[in-house]
Amino acid sequence: MNFLIDQQHQAIFEKAKAYSVECLAPFASQLENDRELLKAKMKEMAEQGFYGLGIPKEMGGHSYNYLQMSLVYEGLAYGSGIMSFLLQLQNNINMEIATFYEDIDPEILKVVPDLANGNKTTAFVLTENASGCDPSATNAYAELDGDVYHIHGQKDWITNAQDADYFNVMVKDGKDSQNMIMLFVEKGTPGLRYIANRERMIGNGIIVGSLEFDNCTVPKTNLLSANGFKEALKAIDVARVFTPAIAIGVAQQAVDSVAEYLGQRESFGKPILTNQGIQWQLAEMNTKIEAARCLLYKTAAVMDSGEPVATIAAMNKLFATDVAMEVTVKCAQLFGAEGFMKDAPIAKSMAVAKMLQIVDGTSEIQKIVVGRGIARQYLPRR
Ligand SMILES: Cc1cc2nc3c(=O)[nH]c(=O)nc-3n(C[C@H](O)[C@H](O)[C@H](O)COP(=O)(O)OP(=O)(O)OC[C@H]3O[C@@H](n4cnc5c(N)ncnc54)[C@H](O)[C@@H]3O)c2cc1C
Repeated sequence: MNFLIDQQHQAIFEKAKAYSVECLAPFASQLENDRELLKAKMKEMAEQGFYGLGIPKEMGGHSYNYLQMSLVYEGLAYGSGIMSFLLQLQNNINMEIATFYEDIDPEILKVVPDLANGNKTTAFVLTENASGCDPSATNAYAELDGDVYHIHGQKDWITNAQDADYFNVMVKDGKDSQNMIMLFVEKGTPGLRYIANRERMIGNGIIVGSLEFDNCTVPKTNLLSANGFKEALKAIDVARVFTPAIAIGVAQQAVDSVAEYLGQRESFGKPILTNQGIQWQLAEMNTKIEAARCLLYKTAAVMDSGEPVATIAAMNKLFATDVAMEVTVKCAQLFGAEGFMKDAPIAKSMAVAKMLQIVDGTSEIQKIVVGRGIARQYLPRR
């Protein structure tokens, strides 16, 4: 039990954890490359009620708050960090379409029920090859021409680039403009082309790749926001609540599984877990995970309160993903050679932790966000 967590919260977490341990973890290796299995498992997660979490009930979702959603992602990550990551990405984009954009065309909102039940999938299209950490360096642009926008440019590192039915695309509002806009683009729109996949350290059951916009033309009414940069930052803040939840689930599973292993495995005539040096390492790791969990719950509570969240969300993302990286590397050592096997779960957990340190703003970017806030407070005003 935790100070913010009641029985209902606990039940939400336990349901997600039980499902992921039983139905995702056993398929970890197949899910790495088998795209059809991955899609089937995403459908299964929809049937289990894990889609549409942040979408209001009246729009076909579950009306979960941020704390409840965090618990689902932490629980799912206990069995599969990758699947939890993919689900939260879908749910975030879908929630944004359903609830974030004030002047959204009602025609676009008609897709929400299909997003809430996982029938249709989405992608968040921000990163370019030359603008990863710095989205203000975006080159792709759209020109308004009467009732349509013509989109030009290339985007990279887009999760679900090949299969998504809908794309939230951030581009400059004109070739020479500094302002960014967010556009809604449907799969199959002429001029939108999936180019290539990026093979990665982990998670290759889904395409993460490049998209080309070659005079891709969408109606003016597909404008989601005239202030795309602000919306992108808001979307990234949401992710900075949830990627830590995934990091915590992954880290906790690593410590639990290595403790169980060392309780059974003997060296020098006794279980390795009886050594104080080993117990201290586990104690330190569990303490850090618990601290990360407290920060996660507080961040989710701040998000639910409607208070500004950017700084605490950056702390949350920085701390939890760094803890996951540290913990999974230490656990790999504690598994000995067993942890170095090609299909060792701990090897996958390490790779997921690394991914979580990079996506949705790297650890360095989180430090920039937090550090700038401190500097603003203490630097003399000019
Ligand atoms: C698996 C995966 C899925 C992704 N999915 C999506 C997606 O769906 N949609 C999307 O838009 N993007 C996606 N991305 C892209 C992701 O958001 C970027 O990779 C991330 O923002 C980092 O950008 P970069 O890789 O270009 O790093 P770079 O900008 O090239 O940075 C390189 C290194 O320099 C550091 N650095 C950069 N600037 C500074 C600075 N000022 N001070 C100190 N250090 C600095 C960085 O922290 C990093 O360590 C995905 C990436 C991955 C790995």
